[in-house]
Amino acid sequence: MIPLFRTAVAPGTAERVTAVVDSGRFGHGPAVEEFERAVGDRVGNPRVAAVNNGTSGLHLALRLAGAYAGAPGVPGGPGEVLSTPFTFEATNWSILANGMRLTWVDVDPATLNIDLDDLAKKITPATRAIMVVHWAGFPVDLVRLARILDDAEAEHGFRPVVVEDCAQAWGATCAGRPLGGHGNLCVFSFHATKHLSCGGGGLLTLPDEESLLRARRLRFFGIDRDADRVNADYDVAEWGYNFYMNEINAAIGLANLETVDERVRLHRLNAAFYDAELAGVAGLELTARPEGLESSFWLYPVKVDDRASFMRKMAGAGVTVSVVCRRNDEHGCVADARTPLPGVDAVHDRVVNIPVGWWLTPEERSHIAETIKSGW
Ligand SMILES: *Cc1c(COP(=O)(O)O)cnc(C)c1O
Repeated sequence: MIPLFRTAVAPGTAERVTAVVDSGRFGHGPAVEEFERAVGDRVGNPRVAAVNNGTSGLHLALRLAGAYAGAPGVPGGPGEVLSTPFTFEATNWSILANGMRLTWVDVDPATLNIDLDDLAKKITPATRAIMVVHWAGFPVDLVRLARILDDAEAEHGFRPVVVEDCAQAWGATCAGRPLGGHGNLCVFSFHATKHLSCGGGGLLTLPDEESLLRARRLRFFGIDRDADRVNADYDVAEWGYNFYMNEINAAIGLANLETVDERVRLHRLNAAFYDAELAGVAGLELTARPEGLESSFWLYPVKVDDRASFMRKMAGAGVTVSVVCRRNDEHGCVADARTPLPGVDAVHDRVVNIPVGWWLTPEERSHIAETIKSGW
């Protein structure tokens, strides 16, 4: 079977991991710090905090966002977070974990990302944070989102914090700049299957120095790393988590960072091939490609009629395809947040993802395109 996901292991990974093992230093150390500097350079934002996975990063990001709600002059109460149901569950369960109230925003059927028109309508004085997901690697229009927040701030006197789930979007750009440097709290995942893999890992990019220092404390129990722990002469003013990245994962990430550009390039090349081959196929619709938003195509979602039959046909041809995620609003644990979402209704049972990754040979991607073109 042609796989939908594969884990990248760059040359030099074993040597880097061995160096960590030989050093005997496994916790936070020089590899993590080197990885943070390298990633900061790539995303154009030096304020980064590496964590042990993307999900931890989301939990931490919303914790940081929550405090803004309690800041002087900002109304308190349980914070409301506006979010999209069209994502992996990790995105939304982080809202529940922070005791925040989840309000669903509809999805734009063209892009599968959060519908910014519906979002603008749903911002209220209770809105503390807005969660956007760059689904499949396709960026949300952050320029337009910033304008929506300007308007909300003018109207309500408070600017909700934007958390960007960039887990699938390493290498994507908005207005020509990489994600992670657009002034929001951003969370990346370095899970085994993501473009940039640490085996497991994640990272936050922060909008200012204060939130950076806070994120670095909270990923380590709330303890300042420079604290005098020999004499236990330190105070935890704000409790935190065990979310820090270890040296082994950072070593794997450093090796993969050297080859990640080539992988993203291949994902894009394969996507461009499908864009040309699959345009106009009866019963199949491509997602939109608006100007100024450059996807990294971690996934290649298409919308098809009779999805069950499409999936059977592809499986029969040796091609792994997958729905990947169930619309999150249908889960029992968020039953009380249910609301009409016509955009999600319009696409949720038509979307399916076909292999697009760096591992595809030209023959394999042609086979995939020809199989689809022959009908299902
Ligand atoms: C992979 C992923 C995550 C979770 O990242 P982990 O590193 O696996 O915890 C979160 N959100 C989305 C959209 C993802 O694809």
